[in-house]
Amino acid sequence: MLISELTDSPSTLPGFGARRAQRVRRLGVETVGDLLTLVPRRYEDRSRVISLAEAAQYGEGLVHATVVDHAYFPRGRQRTLKILIRDEGSVASLVCFGRNFLAKSFPPGTDLAVYGQFSLRYGEIQTASFEAERLVDGQTVHPAPGLVPVYPLTDGISQVQLRDAVNAALERWGDAIEDEVPAAIRSAEGLASMAEAIGWLHRPPSTEHAERAIQRLVWGELFVFQLRLAQDAQRRRRQRRRPRPAAGRTLAAPVRERLPFSLTADQERVLAEILGDMERPWPMSRLLQGDVGSGKTLVALLTALFAIERGQQVALMVPTELLARQHARNIGVLLADVDVHPALALGSMPTASRRELAAALGDGAVDLVIGTHALFSESFAWANLGLVIIDEQHRFGVGQRERLQERGQAPDVLMMSATPIPRSLALTAFGDSEVSTIRELPPGRKPVRTHLTRMGNEERVYTFVQRELEAGHQAYLVYPAIESGGARGYRSAEEMHRELQSRLAPYRIGLAHSRMDDTERAATMEAFSRGELQALVATSVVEVGVDVPNATCMVIEHAEVFGLAALHQLRGRVGRGNAQAYCLLVYQEPLSDDGRERLRVMYESTDGFHIAEEDLRIRGPGELQGSRQSGFLEFRFADIRHHMRQMVAARERIAELLRDDPDLVHPDHAATRRAVDEARERQPREETS
Ligand code: ADP
Ligand code: MG
Repeated sequence: MLISELTDSPSTLPGFGARRAQRVRRLGVETVGDLLTLVPRRYEDRSRVISLAEAAQYGEGLVHATVVDHAYFPRGRQRTLKILIRDEGSVASLVCFGRNFLAKSFPPGTDLAVYGQFSLRYGEIQTASFEAERLVDGQTVHPAPGLVPVYPLTDGISQVQLRDAVNAALERWGDAIEDEVPAAIRSAEGLASMAEAIGWLHRPPSTEHAERAIQRLVWGELFVFQLRLAQDAQRRRRQRRRPRPAAGRTLAAPVRERLPFSLTADQERVLAEILGDMERPWPMSRLLQGDVGSGKTLVALLTALFAIERGQQVALMVPTELLARQHARNIGVLLADVDVHPALALGSMPTASRRELAAALGDGAVDLVIGTHALFSESFAWANLGLVIIDEQHRFGVGQRERLQERGQAPDVLMMSATPIPRSLALTAFGDSEVSTIRELPPGRKPVRTHLTRMGNEERVYTFVQRELEAGHQAYLVYPAIESGGARGYRSAEEMHRELQSRLAPYRIGLAHSRMDDTERAATMEAFSRGELQALVATSVVEVGVDVPNATCMVIEHAEVFGLAALHQLRGRVGRGNAQAYCLLVYQEPLSDDGRERLRVMYESTDGFHIAEEDLRIRGPGELQGSRQSGFLEFRFADIRHHMRQMVAARERIAELLRDDPDLVHPDHAATRRAVDEARERQPREETS
């Protein structure tokens, strides 16, 4: 049996019963398998002898003491034995409910080793729950039990009851536990068998054994998780095999010739990876990650042209209408005189243009559509959708991504992210995708200089901004709130817009936030990008995608309340031109520990990958932007912050395993196959949006 197949309720264990089974559910224990993998909070070393006084204080422990007397107290019509014992400092009584026979075994004068749960009652040290053994020459006859597990507890369940239940489960199933990790991989990785690991988890011969037991659980969990992703990806490939059309014309070459620069080596490399995928007979699923300003748009455009050369249609999906317009404009310039027919698809489109677009998509008159998720409205029937590119993919849910891949025509999917994803997340949230990474920025970029300023000194910041404006540059000033009067008393974009208009006069200052009407906001952003406005006061709506190379200043007030990903994105809005750019983080004291950490990271690093790793470390995987929908990142034993090495190792072993036995039909892999199938059934990946 696999641990995951031990689905009996713990109520089936002798003496445990339905009531206790109900209670341990609060510990996440629903099955015998859960019980056997209940990780002790710690282990207690029972080989250490303590005094009675200490035992009373700790509530539990091993003592050596001498029997001094017997006494009886009435209990109904029965009498109950109390054995009085003493050590150097204290006396105590062993209350022998139902065990009056112990009088014979332990007469006065006997030296005892007693292990029990001690408490101070009625001014007396007592235990009613104990094990005692005669000492011969100061030694126990049986070897000391060594490390004893201490489990997490919940109301109405005692340590002893849990231990008894675990022991009963171990007696019954301990030797029959099978491994989800094949023996060959276990021996190559130096992993214990599951049966050993479960034994060591609850009865460890040493603390090293307990650690190895936990390592085994972690490994198995990561292994099954990733194997499932790998198998899903493999299946998709097989089901969706189809021939690739040949290119009918050349579009990319003339566009490349017209570029005022050449692609960086990294851009060339990721482009080759992507086009390589698109030659394979199954749909691409690839994540392209690269820091803000690393030039992903150009890679996306050349990828799109490759599909269009083959007669396919391409959808470029972005999170905001503003970004859609900006892309359409930039791409329009590069595509002038090239035989490509682009169109915009926006939610705000009037019905007539929507109908027109639907017709053009249906007969293939349009071959490149840039838009928001309106792109995938049901009213559009595409003639030949071959490629979907998702920009700033972290803005979209995992479910949306999967839904796209499920579409009838099974298009190639290229996701792009400027919030670099830590390797661990790339292997989990995107475990079924390939990942391409641009690390190098286009030449000539100067890293943005970051300064921290305490609130109260922001006058200096405004003076600095003013000098930049005088030099002909532009600035962003970002606030966490739209209007004043919020519970937290933050400065707001509206309030500061009013104030800065006079402070920074005669420069023209725009205002942009999410509660504004879309067209109004878009008009402001356009005016800023044309240089008609010199400064832009905004909320984090400017976080995504806006490209104004002349902007050199990013001021973020109340920087302490923004997340690392947002701060990094905001800072990425400047430093896109040739002039030195600055990020001025204004914070309000007192800082929380996390707030201080985030500011430190921003001050010390401009490397998006490093920042993403730090973000993961500070916040944990569940809170990461874009992964919140993916509750499946919460493992029971593993923590992707600490188990990267295991994750990578498991992934490599899985690749080998599936190469040799893609369907896991070899008898050595039967249990592995059951484990993966079972996991898939138990936890289907959600179709959230
Ligand atoms: P992001 O990866 O953040 O989407 P963009 O695609 O917006 O980055 O590119 C940022 C800027 O860099 C754009 O103005 C673009 O024209 C420019 N750029 C892209 N590739 C290169 C290159 N190889 N050399 C010089 N500039 C480049
Ligand atoms: Mg971009």
